[in-house]
Amino acid sequence: MREKVAQQTKVLALANQKGGVGKTTTTINLGAYLAAAGQRVLIVDLDPQGNTSSGLGLVTSKLHGDLYDVLMEDVAIAAVVQETITKGLAVVPASPILAAAEVEMVAVPQREFKLKKALENIKGEYDYILIDCPPSLGILTVNGLVAADEIIIPVQAEFYALEGLGHLVQTVQRVRRGLNPKLGLLGVLLTMHNGRTTLSTQVHEEVRRHFPDKLFETVIPRNVRLAEAPSHGVSIMQYDGWSKGARSYKALAKEVQKRVKQAERVTTT
Ligand code: ATP
Ligand code: MG
Repeated sequence: MREKVAQQTKVLALANQKGGVGKTTTTINLGAYLAAAGQRVLIVDLDPQGNTSSGLGLVTSKLHGDLYDVLMEDVAIAAVVQETITKGLAVVPASPILAAAEVEMVAVPQREFKLKKALENIKGEYDYILIDCPPSLGILTVNGLVAADEIIIPVQAEFYALEGLGHLVQTVQRVRRGLNPKLGLLGVLLTMHNGRTTLSTQVHEEVRRHFPDKLFETVIPRNVRLAEAPSHGVSIMQYDGWSKGARSYKALAKEVQKRVKQAERVTTT
């Protein structure tokens, strides 16, 4: 076994078709802490809501180009990449027009591979590419899953946490069968956990039972500072680096790096 492995770019898709489970919050803050650890990170906002873009301080009505132009107008992705105030963290922004791509792509050949192809030209410039998927299992999310090496599934610690996950798992299997056989599941992340409630504890146990080897040790607590940071256009690292939420995302970044290294060792052994 080779001891030291040169790092390859890892493309991680944050996906769950359920809305409001913490995909965007995780993308922004995981991205920020990976960058703080010296990694070169690109976030791709694959959601027409553009929450990742605005949460990183961009005004989505004033963009000079966004992911729609890349996917539908063949604009080079490098032309729309924007730097953020976090050193080492860049973003490909999205705006509401991206919703049109969901419809227009139906007529496009090789439509599931548009994002993957677009990323090929700049992949080598980054250690991590994080794709924030929209809350649906449509063609945009499929593009995210086809472009990704691994998927991270954020799951909110609430009563219906696991409902609908079957559809997501089926979609992942369908993508593996036909479009991206190497797509792996890096982990399932429990978000908005409230340690004081029995419900949160029960949900934690249930998710662990369903994904015994895949649940991240790091659990993201419910923390109002995490909800406040996006309105200031910064990650939790700048907004309140000592908050519980900040510490949990810092721990997650460590755990993600560890899992990615383990996965690389397995594939190069
Ligand atoms: P969508 O499916 O609409 O894209 P999402 O899965 O990306 O949603 P987020 O936007 O990250 O979810 O989070 C939903 C809401 O919950 C947001 O208002 C966010 O600020 C808040 N939130 C996310 N994580 C936490 C947390 N750990 N503690 C408190 N609030 C949180
Ligand atoms: Mg989102």
